[in-house]
Amino acid sequence: MTERWVYHLTQEEIPTHWYNLVADLPTPPPPPLNPATGQPFDDPTPLMRIFPEALVMQEVSTERWIEIPEPVRQIYALWRPTPLFRARRLEQALDTPAHIYFKFEGVSPAGSHKPNTAVPQAYYNKQQGIRRLATETGAGQWGSALAMACQLFGLECTVYMVRVSYEQKPFRKILMNTWGATVYPSPSEQTEYGRQILAQDPDCPGSLGIAISEALEDTLTHEDTRYALGSVLNHVLLHQTVIGQEAIKQMEMAGEEPDILVGCTGGGSNFAGLVFPFLRKKITEGKPYRIIAVEPASCPSLTKGEYRYDFGDTAGKTPLLKMHTLGHEFMPPRIHAGGLRYHGMAPLVSHALELGLIEARAYHQTQVFEAGVLFARTMGIVPAPEPTHAIKAVIDLALECRERGEKKVILFNLCGHGLLDLTAYDQYLSGALQD
Ligand SMILES: *Cc1c(COP(=O)(O)O)cnc(C)c1O
Repeated sequence: MTERWVYHLTQEEIPTHWYNLVADLPTPPPPPLNPATGQPFDDPTPLMRIFPEALVMQEVSTERWIEIPEPVRQIYALWRPTPLFRARRLEQALDTPAHIYFKFEGVSPAGSHKPNTAVPQAYYNKQQGIRRLATETGAGQWGSALAMACQLFGLECTVYMVRVSYEQKPFRKILMNTWGATVYPSPSEQTEYGRQILAQDPDCPGSLGIAISEALEDTLTHEDTRYALGSVLNHVLLHQTVIGQEAIKQMEMAGEEPDILVGCTGGGSNFAGLVFPFLRKKITEGKPYRIIAVEPASCPSLTKGEYRYDFGDTAGKTPLLKMHTLGHEFMPPRIHAGGLRYHGMAPLVSHALELGLIEARAYHQTQVFEAGVLFARTMGIVPAPEPTHAIKAVIDLALECRERGEKKVILFNLCGHGLLDLTAYDQYLSGALQD
């Protein structure tokens, strides 16, 4: 064996701190606004009815490094550090001089990067004496990650799952039930807002925005309950930075420095998790990284959305966030990359785009599945539908390198495996998938 294909770190090398990009940005991101007053919150106390205090403090923190509690690092060790691979067989198939690396987050028990934040979120709630967490989930990646984390820390977990997914994709619901969570199809009969929507449209397929509204209402009507969000917010992006910190060490082991970093973006958390630690080096050391966010052409918040204040949910109950948005009433089409069907984008990712620190592009779903199948046929791993967007961009970049004879180093985040998304592959392979 002469060619190195994979770079592993030891358990001791799991990062000890999360990295907060806010500390290094040339200008601070616009603050969230109180929807009642249209002004910034003078004090974050009202948010503590929704999230535990420790997470609210992280949300508004400007500290560069935030220590990861030991019990959280211990649970991270169930699957972290995650491997970094060199995709040599993909390079060969593309006949490109580019070197392609990927960080693989699909090795977590839930099969994606989401447990990186689910675990600390459950931990801080438990520390504060909270009994139950309520949340929403689209295709079920976030719900299953939180169900596992709640189970590991002895919390109850209630999940509002977008109805189409609940009906068409039962496997992640079964996974959530296995980890002890209660799952309702959303819109549900459990909340006032859900009942209101069902009265108007009994067949409503649901959306992430509606499910967020239901989980929030559940939280606000139960004193012992807090809410958990799997993307978008600063503290969620913060927790994901273990990915990029590990990747920096692993790229050093490989003896290479990436020229281009790529990630898919739904709410922005797996992308931020990989790229924010590299952005630190771009800002503070002048590293010339090109950083690309890739989104679906059917839900193009970064490439087509307006940069303005908007709500995070459909009912308009959340604080107003300054972000690239398609409007909080936008009903995303039912594409297979369920994790990318969200109307807005993380304020920190939006701000980085405005500052010109990153760029964005969009692809259609048939193009990305073609890329996903090529990846599966060369590297073995079947990617989740979301990261096939990143893979499509990587393939295009590698082909450009071939045309120009450039030996660029490309690093992307393979944020989840697709073994629970095989019906989507079935549709693609049978020619039934449409843009
Ligand atoms: C949830 C999810 C996404 C989208 O969320 P981000 O916050 O943008 O990362 C992407 N990929 C996978 C595998 C997911 O589970």
